[in-house]
Amino acid sequence: FRVTLTPIRRRDKGVVGSIAVLHDVTESEKLEQTRREFVANVSHELRTPLTTIKSYAEALDDGAMEEPPLAERFVGVIRSETERMIRLVTDLLHLSRFDSRQAQLRRQTTDLAEMTEDVVDRFSLQLRQKAITVRVQVEPGLQKAWIDRDGIDQVLDNLMSNAIKYTLDGGSIVLSAKLTGAGQLSISVKDTGIGIPKKDIAHIFDRFYRVDKARSRSMGGTGLGLSIAREIVRAHGGTIGIESEPNAGTTVTVTLPMAQEGGEQP
Ligand code: ADP
Repeated sequence: FRVTLTPIRRRDKGVVGSIAVLHDVTESEKLEQTRREFVANVSHELRTPLTTIKSYAEALDDGAMEEPPLAERFVGVIRSETERMIRLVTDLLHLSRFDSRQAQLRRQTTDLAEMTEDVVDRFSLQLRQKAITVRVQVEPGLQKAWIDRDGIDQVLDNLMSNAIKYTLDGGSIVLSAKLTGAGQLSISVKDTGIGIPKKDIAHIFDRFYRVDKARSRSMGGTGLGLSIAREIVRAHGGTIGIESEPNAGTTVTVTLPMAQEGGEQP
């Protein structure tokens, strides 16, 4: 609480009492705390690759340049750390677009079978490299939806990329789309990966939250994929949920209201 005290004065008697007003600042304190943590996280996440780039550039300067095989490796590290920073900044821009509510959904009639097949196609190389098999299941009769195709593509890309990152070689993924009993569109990505411990599930959509920081980083993760997915789904008026069993697999389900073609969702 923040307390404001105002003295009550009488002309002849001076101060005769006071008025105390208690302001409940829990919410704004919490917001401020979240903002501080976010800035600290962003700074840390950007600082790490920058420090690496600096030290490898110095090593090249100090003579590594004369040894071509070594120089090649160092330049490779510099490039991959730069790519990490670009990914991070791109993710941050996506988040801020949705934070400031600037994100106008650009809905279009979307063929769901085509959309799900396209997601798999975009990952075909990575899937092949890890020998992961994918099955796409679109409920018969479910054809079109009025959604922001680019936004939902990004959600599915984030979920698919996680499913691949956190599934061991030879595993499998099922991408499915169906209508729920309540007439909502439900899209889920199910993997046979490492799963998420129970205690972490509640935090998994928090910005920069990772179960295993080192693992996520080595897989090229920014820790923002799920929070971006949640913002996009919320902008559609939908929800996103996760079910997971350690060492068995994870299913992430996105549920979207079926909007009227030509209409806008809140
Ligand atoms: P990251 O870039 O680290 O993957 P995300 O926001 O996409 O960030 O996910 C947050 C964390 O949730 C990941 O670091 C990982 O620990 C966990 N996670 C997300 N998806 C999966 C999955 N399909 N299987 C296991 N763990 C997952």
